[in-house]
Amino acid sequence: MSRDPRYDILFEPVQIGPVTARNRFFQVPHCNGMGHALPEAHAAMRAVKAEGGWSVVSTEECEIHPSGDLSPYIEARLWDDDDIPPLALMTEQVHAHGALAAIELTYNGPTSSNLYSREVALAPSHQPLKYGYPHQARAMTLADIADYRRWHRNAAIRAKRAGFDIIYVYAAHDLSLPMHFLQRRRNQRSDAYGGSLENRVRLLREVLTDTKEAVGDTCAVALRFAVEEFLGEAGISLDGESRDIVGLLADLPDLWDVNLAAWYHDSTSSRFAGEGAQRPFTAWVKQVTNKPVVGVGRFTSPDTMVRQIRDGVMDLIGAARPSIADPFLPRKIETGAIDAIRECIGCNICASGDMTSTPIRCTQNPSMGEEWRKGWHPEHIPSLPKPSRVLVVGAGPAGLEAARALGQRGAEVTLVDAARELGGRVTRESRLPGLAEWARVRDWRLVRLQTMANVAIYPDNRLEADDVLGFEAEHIVIATGARWRRDGFGRSADLPIPGFEAAGVFTPDDILDGRLPEHGPVLLYDDDGFYLGSVLAERLVQAGLDVVYVTPEDTVAGWTTNTLDYRHIQKRLRKLGVQIITAHELLGFAGDHAELACAWGGARRTVACASVLTVTARLPDDGLFQALAARQPAWADHGIARIDCIGDALAPGLIAHAVYAGHRYAREFDDARDPVSRRDSVPFRRRRFVAS
Ligand code: ADP
Ligand code: SF4
Repeated sequence: MSRDPRYDILFEPVQIGPVTARNRFFQVPHCNGMGHALPEAHAAMRAVKAEGGWSVVSTEECEIHPSGDLSPYIEARLWDDDDIPPLALMTEQVHAHGALAAIELTYNGPTSSNLYSREVALAPSHQPLKYGYPHQARAMTLADIADYRRWHRNAAIRAKRAGFDIIYVYAAHDLSLPMHFLQRRRNQRSDAYGGSLENRVRLLREVLTDTKEAVGDTCAVALRFAVEEFLGEAGISLDGESRDIVGLLADLPDLWDVNLAAWYHDSTSSRFAGEGAQRPFTAWVKQVTNKPVVGVGRFTSPDTMVRQIRDGVMDLIGAARPSIADPFLPRKIETGAIDAIRECIGCNICASGDMTSTPIRCTQNPSMGEEWRKGWHPEHIPSLPKPSRVLVVGAGPAGLEAARALGQRGAEVTLVDAARELGGRVTRESRLPGLAEWARVRDWRLVRLQTMANVAIYPDNRLEADDVLGFEAEHIVIATGARWRRDGFGRSADLPIPGFEAAGVFTPDDILDGRLPEHGPVLLYDDDGFYLGSVLAERLVQAGLDVVYVTPEDTVAGWTTNTLDYRHIQKRLRKLGVQIITAHELLGFAGDHAELACAWGGARRTVACASVLTVTARLPDDGLFQALAARQPAWADHGIARIDCIGDALAPGLIAHAVYAGHRYAREFDDARDPVSRRDSVPFRRRRFVAS
């Protein structure tokens, strides 16, 4: 296949100060939960992006000094010369694939924690640390400002020694000192660094100038700047000062990287923002500067990318999530393999790695975070040494990915599903408000499967144990999913909730199958705490039903802080008029009302409701697997070597878990070890700090 000439413009080189990007695909900085703690894993992950055709591959935030320590979040670190070799691992591997390496230097002042370093944090003025740590940052003296400038300069020099080509000055996401000096709410100084805009821009200008003087002979100096914080006068805003700030610094940086703050406005999930959502906020920047501009917008469509360039919105297509979901996105456009692009679904599971200080994972790309520790490559899987016949039962995310990856490996695969429409939970959930893009999990796999002559797909076929045994495949994998419980058992209720056996109690599966309550108010009991309860509340409101949302937790959809959805969900539910009752357990349902008890004091209250939607826990739909397991002595007679159960049918989890389970099954399918030694060993490579 060859490249569509319409996309030629995406492959033009772009001069950035003293360096040249070979094309317009720019992997902007993104966190990954590996950073300084797992340098080999980090380097391997970045290298795969360079191999996949990104012309620039950036680090995440890189701390420059112990007094700007971001623990427990795991970012890059350049505190002293000892931190150079781990980062040089990345630049060497990125350069080996012909890409430029960029580093995002940061000093987060009042948005750091210093939990690890125990240093006192610095800020433009005295203020509490942003993320709730019980300590304050102190107002910087002029000597502190000089220190900070020297630390930044030293870090830039170290970054150059580590091999970086582009050095970022960071003033975005409400996360770094030059930005904090710009913000009126954080900068209450009355000296030359406070008050007028000219004064508040001073530090940013100085740091840009320092960096250019220190490393600008061979390195480009980029500025990452958030043009809008959505905080009115208290923050940087388009109606306020952001245009003036860009005007004041116009041609000082070699590259403008422009976006929105805070992070949840920048990496907004697909539920709340579509492709290219930042354009109205950033399109003007190119009019103000002669320097190249990079911007983001979860771009996965080459046509949309071309439009950004042709319309003069940006010069380089910035991407974090699209490069995570498909590290080979540029190569696929370059080779005309547009159908092969694994489009990001905007679920933000990748962000949860950073938020939980664990290695990044991705719903669409199960190899993300496994490049070094498991040696998984997003495009290549070794072919099977000998042909194998595999029956995959269930075409949800687990079964689809198992079939796809096995097909890629050369197995003779039969994929069977009871439903007429393939995709399992992904198909059903993608019909809910805001989740349409989740269907990409199914669509990418189906398109791949349709190209494979060695895979046969049979929808609308419910298999029983006899059918499976009679199929006589050597390997059988059961990926039959899970169903939501109706009895109320979950994290909070140890026993079934009285009244839940009666009519008027609905589960998420009922709603997904189109069986909605006829009358409201509906009491939605969310003991799950992630996205689904709030999405179902939206669905019920859409159907004209009044909703009372009750959760035993202190907050609505608590785990969605990890996917940056939390604030958007709070606002959405209130806007929809959903009544919210937190910190209450559901004791029972009596047909026209429910009894609640305060989770803390036990105080009772009654809520009138005509029905209940219970979102508590799931049970594996593993009847088929259990029936087959019970007949293990007969397997050999049917030529069956193994029967495995994977995904939600084994233990219900996220879509990301199911895709991973399917991929892992296919990867480890020919593992020659016996099951016991396999389970007894650590299933991935680890970094050891002390030689044994
Ligand atoms: P996962 O997330 O683990 O992939 P899903 O619930 O999304 O699980 O998908 C499970 C799929 O398995 C559904 O599409 C369902 O129709 C299918 N399925 C369940 N039981 C059977 C069966 N006995 N025979 C064939 N397909 C089945
Ligand atoms: Fe996109 Fe979700 Fe993957 Fe993140 S985890 S890159 S949002 S598909």
